[in-house]
Amino acid sequence: MNELDRLLRADLRGRTAYGAPQLDVPVALNTNESSYGVSREVIDAILTEVEAVASTLNRYPDREFTRLRTDLAGYLTRTTDVHVEPDRVWAGNGSNEVLQHIVQAFGGTGRTALGFTPSYSMHPIISGVSGTSWVDGMRTQDPSRFDIDLGLAVEQATEHDPSVVFLTSPNNPTGTALDLDVVQAVYDAAPNAIVVVDEAYAEFARPGTPSAITLLKGRPRLVVTRTMSKAFAFAGVRLGYLAADPHLIDLLRLVRMPYHLSSVTQAVACAALEHRTTMLSMVEAIKAERDRLVAGCTDLGLRPVPSDANFVLVGGFDDAATTWQALLDQGVLVRDVGIANHLRITAGTPDETDAVLAAFSTVLATAR
Ligand code: PMP
Repeated sequence: MNELDRLLRADLRGRTAYGAPQLDVPVALNTNESSYGVSREVIDAILTEVEAVASTLNRYPDREFTRLRTDLAGYLTRTTDVHVEPDRVWAGNGSNEVLQHIVQAFGGTGRTALGFTPSYSMHPIISGVSGTSWVDGMRTQDPSRFDIDLGLAVEQATEHDPSVVFLTSPNNPTGTALDLDVVQAVYDAAPNAIVVVDEAYAEFARPGTPSAITLLKGRPRLVVTRTMSKAFAFAGVRLGYLAADPHLIDLLRLVRMPYHLSSVTQAVACAALEHRTTMLSMVEAIKAERDRLVAGCTDLGLRPVPSDANFVLVGGFDDAATTWQALLDQGVLVRDVGIANHLRITAGTPDETDAVLAAFSTVLATAR
């Protein structure tokens, strides 16, 4: 054993770090980013904001990110029909950081976090790093289905008495949105848990999919996390946020680093929120490409899972790892999420959809 490995915390030994490949390829559809760059209008607004803040960079940022919280609360209020006050909003460097704040405050050694697999791979990693035991819950008894069986979820929540429960809607990597009945039932079945609904992909959901933000009132243990990395096409900025009870947010202040959101991040995020119509203008086009991917894969004899997100989980490959490599050899990078016979593909531009479908067609023809 390497000397440093010996010195590492025992519970971290042997773990592998998060590692989605960052490769320079013509078609990169592996991390659910937006393929559309930031528009000139928003670049100009960002530059104006950054210029204004630049002369104050000798000072620490507003620790309470007051303007940003107000703008995020305004965005949630406008898009969910629920009045969200700024004191119900918290933000961090990506939703990964706000998820980490939750686990740091409410998980920890001797406590358990429950998630329903397959789901976002960082939930167990964030939990493990804070010493929280992870329970890989089952979504259904039928491995070919990716919704969550309400009765089974309640059973597992009752059995494990978790301190944190992760629900993801729409779910990554399956694309499946959750019925709010499941959220309510899990909340009631886990009276000692903070119940997190990770809504990173909420803006891509099909019409009629309600946000768990509508359930916040009267549920002080419920937290809904969001991000600007996906629909806002702003992954490089690292801005994630959550809505929850004001007292829960007060408790998160115990674990955050002072001044964790830089003045530049705050200014840039506010500029983007002011230009939200432009920022979100490609969402419908991305949904159309997602639906085209589903239809194209079906035509090729593959089995795409219906998706409410900006990606599609596609089944029907004989060997996912071999196909992943064959696609990469053609310049198309998708994600092997470790589900047998499945690959996950982010929806991008029409040209990227054409490239993926053409590459699938070639790879399948070679395999058959
Ligand atoms: N939640 C889910 C379900 C995700 O898929 C991701 C990113 N892939 C995140 C959270 C984290 O995103 P970010 O830290 O960029 O906000």
